[in-house]
Amino acid sequence: MPRRKKSEKKEKPRVKIEGNVKVLVDLVGKMYGDKARKLLEIIITSPEPIGEDAIGKLIGIKTNEARRIIQRLADESIIRFRRIKRGDKGIHAWFLNEDQVEGILLTRLKKTREKLLIRLNFLKEHTIMVCPRCGRRYTFEEAMNNDFRCIDDGELLEEYDPSDEIGFLEKKIREIDEDLKKFGVL
Ligand SMILES: [Zn+2]
Repeated sequence: MPRRKKSEKKEKPRVKIEGNVKVLVDLVGKMYGDKARKLLEIIITSPEPIGEDAIGKLIGIKTNEARRIIQRLADESIIRFRRIKRGDKGIHAWFLNEDQVEGILLTRLKKTREKLLIRLNFLKEHTIMVCPRCGRRYTFEEAMNNDFRCIDDGELLEEYDPSDEIGFLEKKIREIDEDLKKFGVL
């Protein structure tokens, strides 16, 4: 392998995708999809400061779309930008917000856990009716107000069996608890 000489000194050691950073990358994938995940991986592992155009090209998406995803990640403080001089031009380069990684993960995990728990409790405490034809769901009150018929197709509603969904939610909450334990929160 040819050695790189010129820019070696200037380069900061790149962040590796491991530990918390890996958890964050996975989380971004879950929350914003595969493109966002790839985009973040590129920002993290790029050997040089990288701008929106180059990021978009590497993933194979238009700059506009890259910009939209970048904006979302920046809004969540996952990445931040810095203007970098390159020749006589400057580029708007993006970096992982390393100091924020743990805080972002904790906040997100807690928020997600809370949402899952609310859904779980709702399922446990309510009777839910479902249309066997289109799958539309109704609270018991809503169903009663519609004479237990689907608003969309008139089909007679059935009681929804939430056990699979409850199992799924409980599993998700357990997974989050495992993650929280890694941070010493639980
Ligand atoms: Zn229906």
